Amino acid sequence: MNLIEKDKAYIWHPFTQMKTAGDPILIKRAKGALIYDENDNEIIDAVSSWWVNVHGHAHPYIADKIYEQLNKLEHVIFAGFTHEPAVELAERLLGYLPHQSKIFFSDNGSTAVEVALKMSLQYFYNKNEKRDTIIALESAYHGDTFGAMSAGGDDGFNDPFKKHMFKIERIPTPTKGNENKSIEQLKEIISEKNVCSFIFEPLIQGAGGMVMYEPEILDELIGICKENNVLCIADEVMVGFYRTGKIFASNHLKNKPDLTCLSKGLTGGTLPMSITSCSEEIYNAFLSQDKKKTFFHGHSFTGNPIGCAAALASLDLFEKEETKNNIERIIQSHQRFKNKIEKHPSATNVRQRGTIIALDFKTDSSTSYFNSLRDTLYYFFLEHGVLLRPLGNVVYIMPPYCISDEQLNKVYHLIEKALDELA
Ligand SMILES: *Cc1c(COP(=O)(O)O)cnc(C)c1O
Repeated sequence: MNLIEKDKAYIWHPFTQMKTAGDPILIKRAKGALIYDENDNEIIDAVSSWWVNVHGHAHPYIADKIYEQLNKLEHVIFAGFTHEPAVELAERLLGYLPHQSKIFFSDNGSTAVEVALKMSLQYFYNKNEKRDTIIALESAYHGDTFGAMSAGGDDGFNDPFKKHMFKIERIPTPTKGNENKSIEQLKEIISEKNVCSFIFEPLIQGAGGMVMYEPEILDELIGICKENNVLCIADEVMVGFYRTGKIFASNHLKNKPDLTCLSKGLTGGTLPMSITSCSEEIYNAFLSQDKKKTFFHGHSFTGNPIGCAAALASLDLFEKEETKNNIERIIQSHQRFKNKIEKHPSATNVRQRGTIIALDFKTDSSTSYFNSLRDTLYYFFLEHGVLLRPLGNVVYIMPPYCISDEQLNKVYHLIEKALDELA
């Protein structure tokens, strides 16, 4: 059997209907913004390989740092033990998150969210306050584990598990025109229930369709929570690391969250790792002679030194002038493209924040993830050497920051061509 035949014999791929999916594309190597298939055809990775890759593929600096660490210490139990890469990473991340004071490590975005939800619940439990209602935004996505699924919007993916998901109160995402509804419902739920925490994807909801909203309204929602001692959880798993133009989306806010989840860009897209940070106030509620107040949570690979080394290397790269210039270049380039296609008869709701640009293809059928236009667009882009994964009729670009102007222009051009020919 060749590799594709073996893949089909042995592997079950994520988010994939295996009966109808085409053969997977075999990738042999990658460099910068490009991935190469087995025949050495180039594909521009315009979605940063599911939003994780920030500095480009096979970055030699990150690779060297991983190799160095691998030869010193590959892993050690993180309860009762510690190591330099974890300490240094926690210190450096907290430098960027001045409102946070402790870093808790886990492995992926979903577990970072589980940790945040559990911390918020146990915070009140430890203080003997009966507060256990969690509020989330409609059309949110927080991951695929049960807590994260529960906090996510009702999108039709999780019907088989519904009975076992816990109840969450949802308020409308405060997009233009929905701000007041969002505020009113938040206030109403807070006044009627014992609310523990409010979880949100700050400024951009990713998997829910690249839904964008303004910092001013989020500031207002967080402000209401603060007045009522409701903990705020910023799920920055997607928006973190300059996707919104600043290192963290919370940097656009005056009112800061109590807990922050980071993962996707954390290791520069090389290794699975995540963190949940929290305020001193939350951390203190777990300090006690009473063992039951301990946060009994941890994963086998918590604080993995290789992951930490990769994350430190990624931060080094972010601190370079070149990276900052690239981010600014992409933002301006997106703005020009937005102005250009805003009036295209087949495009609506062209929107941009930072290094992410998204638009809706006009369509007659329902505009959900299951829209058939999605597959047509996906294969059209791929045939032309660009990896874009539309969310239903929503097409977005979220590139690694090393993408060249020429590569970006190819992606723009292709989206225009799709608008002309397929919509
Ligand atoms: C992807 C994502 C998650 C889940 O992260 P995984 O690493 O896939 O578990 C959580 N929250 C947001 C906002 C995400 O985009």
